[in-house]
Amino acid sequence: MSNHAGAVSELVEQLGRLPGIGRKSAERLAFHLLRVSEHEALGLADAIRRVRKDVRYCSACFNLSESELCTICADPSRDRTRLCIVEQPRDLMSLEQSSVFRGVYHVLLGRIAPLDGIGPDQLTIDPLVERVRKGKFVEVIMATNPTVEGDGTSLYISNLLSEYPVEITRLARGITAGSVLEYANREMIADALTGRQKL
Ligand SMILES: [Zn+2]
Repeated sequence: MSNHAGAVSELVEQLGRLPGIGRKSAERLAFHLLRVSEHEALGLADAIRRVRKDVRYCSACFNLSESELCTICADPSRDRTRLCIVEQPRDLMSLEQSSVFRGVYHVLLGRIAPLDGIGPDQLTIDPLVERVRKGKFVEVIMATNPTVEGDGTSLYISNLLSEYPVEITRLARGITAGSVLEYANREMIADALTGRQKL
């Protein structure tokens, strides 16, 4: 976009790097930001700055957090004998919205994906095994996504955990194979959690 002013062209380029945003959308967003009030546009910039400065991973479960422990790990009313394993913080948020699960979580920060070069050591599997070894869990619920890679990850982890005295379950397949937790609605997730089965 050599015919845009330097700053605009820089913004278009930055926006265009976001997932799902092509060149045309990047331009549309850039011009939108020029059109709205300065307050609104800078609000977005501030939100980005804050999220990067203040948000980190919970030291226990790797959920997003603004302090050492996330709000779930810091909540004394959560059941510390049940551990639910998810791929991403956004999967945890979907499960939380169903309000069925009152235990705690472990976020893997991805899934094993050999084709993308993602192996077990790039996920938070070591701290997970350590947690299960030290914790008082009676049940570990595999809530990875029902995809080939999610299932593979779940199988890998359940093998690792099989030496510990915990029951390993997985979500019921109310969630259609191939669909993603993030997009499942509240009722589907509640059904999947309630109907979880032994793995
Ligand atoms: Zn946490």
